[in-house]
Amino acid sequence: MKQFRIHKDDVVMVIAGKDKGKIGRVLKILRKHDRVLVEKVNIAVRHMRPNPQLQQPGGRVEKEMPVHVSNVVVQCPVCKQSTRIGYRYLEESKDGKTKRKRVRFCKKCNEIMAQGGKKK
Ligand SMILES: [Zn+2]
Repeated sequence: MKQFRIHKDDVVMVIAGKDKGKIGRVLKILRKHDRVLVEKVNIAVRHMRPNPQLQQPGGRVEKEMPVHVSNVVVQCPVCKQSTRIGYRYLEESKDGKTKRKRVRFCKKCNEIMAQGGKKK
C-alpha cells in the first residue's frame, strides 16, 4: 500500500493553485484519489435551492474541495516550518515486553510529530 505521510489533523500549507500560501488543518484524507480536504482551502460556493421537504433553507453553501497531496506541504507543529516527514521506530517497554512503535518525525528539527487522526 502506498504510504501517506499526511494524516488527518495535520496542518498543511498549500503550495500551488489559487489558494497558494494558505494554511489549514487536514479534515479528510482521500487516499484513493491522492487528495486531501483542507479546512478553508479550495472553497467552492454552491448555490443551493431551498428544499422545503428536507427543511433546507437554500442559499450559498461553502464547501471545501479536495486538493492534490503534491500541492500541500506539512507544517511542523514544533518548528513551524514547512517540512518533510520521516519515519522512525521507537522502542517502548511495557510490562517487560519491548514494542516497536512507528512514529513520524520532522526532517527539519528532528522532533517527533503527533500521529494525527487518533484523538478526537
Ligand atoms: Zn520541525
